[in-house]
Amino acid sequence: MTTIDPAPVIVIGAGIGGLAAAIRLAAAGRAVTVLEQSTTVGGKMSQISDRGYRWDTGPSVITMRHVFETLFASAGRHLEDYLDLQPLEPLTRYFYADGSVLDASRDWPAMAATIAQWEPRDVAGYLRFLAYAAEIHRVTGPVFIYDQPPTPTSFLRVPPWDMLKVDAWSTLDQAIRRHVRDPRLRQLLGRFATYVGASPYRAPATLAVIAHVELTGGVWYPRGGIYRIAEALTRLATELGVQLRTGTRVSRIAVENGSVRGVYLDAPAGSGVRPEFIPAGTVIANVDVATVYDKLLPPEVVPAGLRARLLNQETSCSGFILLLGVERTHPQLAHHNIFFTADYRREFDDIFGRGIPPTDPTIYVAISSKTDPDHAPPGCENWFILVNAPAVSNRYDWTTQAQTYRDQVLATLARKGIDIRGAIATEHILTPHDIATRTGAYRGALYGISSNNPLNAFRRPHNRSPHIGGLYFAGGTTHPGGGVPMVTLSGMLVADLVQERTISV
Ligand SMILES: Cc1cc2nc3c(=O)[nH]c(=O)nc-3n(C[C@H](O)[C@H](O)[C@H](O)COP(=O)(O)OP(=O)(O)OC[C@H]3O[C@@H](n4cnc5c(N)ncnc54)[C@H](O)[C@@H]3O)c2cc1C
Repeated sequence: MTTIDPAPVIVIGAGIGGLAAAIRLAAAGRAVTVLEQSTTVGGKMSQISDRGYRWDTGPSVITMRHVFETLFASAGRHLEDYLDLQPLEPLTRYFYADGSVLDASRDWPAMAATIAQWEPRDVAGYLRFLAYAAEIHRVTGPVFIYDQPPTPTSFLRVPPWDMLKVDAWSTLDQAIRRHVRDPRLRQLLGRFATYVGASPYRAPATLAVIAHVELTGGVWYPRGGIYRIAEALTRLATELGVQLRTGTRVSRIAVENGSVRGVYLDAPAGSGVRPEFIPAGTVIANVDVATVYDKLLPPEVVPAGLRARLLNQETSCSGFILLLGVERTHPQLAHHNIFFTADYRREFDDIFGRGIPPTDPTIYVAISSKTDPDHAPPGCENWFILVNAPAVSNRYDWTTQAQTYRDQVLATLARKGIDIRGAIATEHILTPHDIATRTGAYRGALYGISSNNPLNAFRRPHNRSPHIGGLYFAGGTTHPGGGVPMVTLSGMLVADLVQERTISV
């Protein structure tokens, strides 16, 4: 007979990973309470509106639709009843330093025709690269992405001949060079390392899986904006009986005899009121793991050296963001656009070597009003500009440099033929510093710990704390990593880990 432990589960944080964990557990019959410090849900997935413009301020590219389908199906629901997830074409429009333009597409004849104009031999090379990336996904997916965190014995599940295909000791750039010749195509394929905040010249070729999920699986956009995903998950969680308390900050995880026994909430400042205590035998932290060990656990239960190790880990890059209301339309632009630098290697040396924002940055421009015209007033566009930038450190002072860097980014775009400087109706700037304070991301890192090192996939903190009984982690700083689909998987995987602990057969 299977009995389900009725003990309540507390999830700290209503980011996408926290909501996914809450949904999967509630669907399995558990009583779940989500405590979110902010007044809104979604964490890094967030939105703002201003003077008729609306922007998503965090993620803008959604891949791996199947992950969201799985989450909804595990609660007995259909994704389509909650989200209108549309495929986008082109996936991204790429503008190169030499003036050439390429629409990355799943439409193979169109893609092949463009590649053939550049370098006929790359038509076959590109296809070989896609097949190579698909193989990496086939081999790594079941063991390292869609399943519980890998252990040394996980490797035994991969036949030795398949292990060679993982190609972890080449860099992504080296693997790309083995397949295609044209520098522009190489730059396009290398860019996928930035989807986890890494450099194609440092990160393992295994990251080609990201090229696979986008170039083969497509880019998806929820009608109404990316934030619709957070709203859809909240709706589903609420329907399943999850208690969601926003504006509720956890100040401490209570630990007794090596196991969690609940959480303390922040008492209203100056109220003299004792902090509220919520008892629970299971706590899932959807908070940066380093922050949990640094700030939320009693210092005496944190093993010596662990805190320092977590805080000193190399992180993924951060970003410099401009949200612009632009009083003009640009028919030459698509929903997702990339304006590449002429010197990609230099860009990553600036970010990861010198610790400064790129002097000649690659500029990403997302315009959701191309798909949802009501995101901007008629005849206008809502621009989201993202430039990769180093995580917060003392090597660059954003508090004094933000305006200068903003001018530099817009001047760079102007040199590339798109000068919007006289057409900006309203704007908001978000520096890596702002990302750190607004989202709680340690050092403003967009995707948790760095993926530049092939071994880091195994250094990522496990979803179950090895030190404190009943404490779990879901989100971008734990397995399987950062990005909206990955944190959704993280939430689902942690829910299954919790059930494994509390289901007695
Ligand atoms: C600018 C930017 C662009 C991005 N672009 C993309 C993209 O295009 N595609 C993509 O897939 N991914 C992208 N990402 C990454 C993606 O947004 C994240 O990986 C993902 O949203 C992180 O989710 P999470 O579950 O880790 O939770 P988070 O979003 O980190 O949320 C954690 C939640 O915990 C709450 N919290 C923290 N401490 C406490 C406490 N003590 N008490 C109560 N609540 C607390 C926070 O308020 C927050 O709501 C981007 C991220 C950023 C910032």
